[in-house]
Amino acid sequence: MKIETKAIHAGRYVDSATGAVTPPIYLSSTFERQPDGSYPTGFEYSRDGNPNRNALEQCVCALEDGQEAAAFSSGSVATMTIFQALSPGDHVIAPDDLYFGIRQLLKDTFVPWGLEVSFVDMTDVSQTRKAVRRNTRLVLAETPSNPQIKVTDIRKTSEIAHDAGAYFVCDNTMATPVLQRPLDLGADLVVHATTKYLSGHDDVTGGIIVAKQGIELFQKIRKLQKIGGAIPSPFECWLTLRGINTLPYRMRAHCDNALKVAEFLNNHPAIEKVLYPGLSNDAGHSTASQQMSLFGGMMSVQVNGGRDNAMGVAAKVRIFTRATSFGGPHSLIEHRASIEGPGTKTPDNLLRLAIGLENVDDLIADLAQALSQIE
Ligand SMILES: *Cc1c(COP(=O)(O)O)cnc(C)c1O
Repeated sequence: MKIETKAIHAGRYVDSATGAVTPPIYLSSTFERQPDGSYPTGFEYSRDGNPNRNALEQCVCALEDGQEAAAFSSGSVATMTIFQALSPGDHVIAPDDLYFGIRQLLKDTFVPWGLEVSFVDMTDVSQTRKAVRRNTRLVLAETPSNPQIKVTDIRKTSEIAHDAGAYFVCDNTMATPVLQRPLDLGADLVVHATTKYLSGHDDVTGGIIVAKQGIELFQKIRKLQKIGGAIPSPFECWLTLRGINTLPYRMRAHCDNALKVAEFLNNHPAIEKVLYPGLSNDAGHSTASQQMSLFGGMMSVQVNGGRDNAMGVAAKVRIFTRATSFGGPHSLIEHRASIEGPGTKTPDNLLRLAIGLENVDDLIADLAQALSQIE
């Protein structure tokens, strides 16, 4: 099946009791046991497994060409669970512009807990290779990255991880399986904030991990999911699955709009630099062309004149909303350095733009009027 068909059919079934085409939401926290003690449906207790969560896991697994998946209550706790599945003394290699919250989590919680961590510029694979130690167990990449929209070569980085005897995990939140399938390029695990494009409507917080066949680490992850219970509710699973129906079509529209906005901004005198791999002069363009089918809906821009001008543009937009996150229908704009706070490596004049599904002419006109006020 092609991805548009999987997005609608994978994990779904017609409800046998009612004929419902859209699955019901199973709020029940517990399931009946037979007189002989068995559980004929396989469901016992909702922390362990729930029909809506199963359906979501099966669907995303199919989209990513994986073998199994575990859904979580946020993207952050999904990644945190991967670290929890490691052992004190293990070494992790992560990108120097890793999603800010996860970077904090590694430094503040997992280093004291016993992980060793190296942050490297993964756009340069030789840096990743140099960071390998005898005890390297995990290499985590995020591509394109957030908020600098940097591109990491998935195939080459997975080879480095595997040569080191380590697992290779790719955060595919920004690209989605519509644009990029890391498991097919060598990754062992894919992680997503389903909060973003997968649920796609700015109304769910969630995460998911997908594994290819035979990944031992995933069995620990599954155990932590079931026993710890950092799981999405049945309703959130249902909403995420509803969003996924239209994922391939939404992604194409996000990408079309983003390319046009990037080209507009790239020629604008008030803009110092546009970070978007769809532009042929972008540092990530050639790698992105090899591993992505389209270039995504996210970009960052550096505004001439520094922080005040960047804040000024964000203050003047009318259709873009000043808000964090991405992946929903609304276009969002964000001054990242001030939201990340002290310790951020994000330039002070950088604005991150999540290009939504509005008409692109309206988006360009909005940015044009906001930029005209700072020139
Ligand atoms: C949003 C995001 C996360 C965290 O997801 P939450 O659901 O907010 O916890 C992790 N990685 C990337 C790339 C993200 O964009």
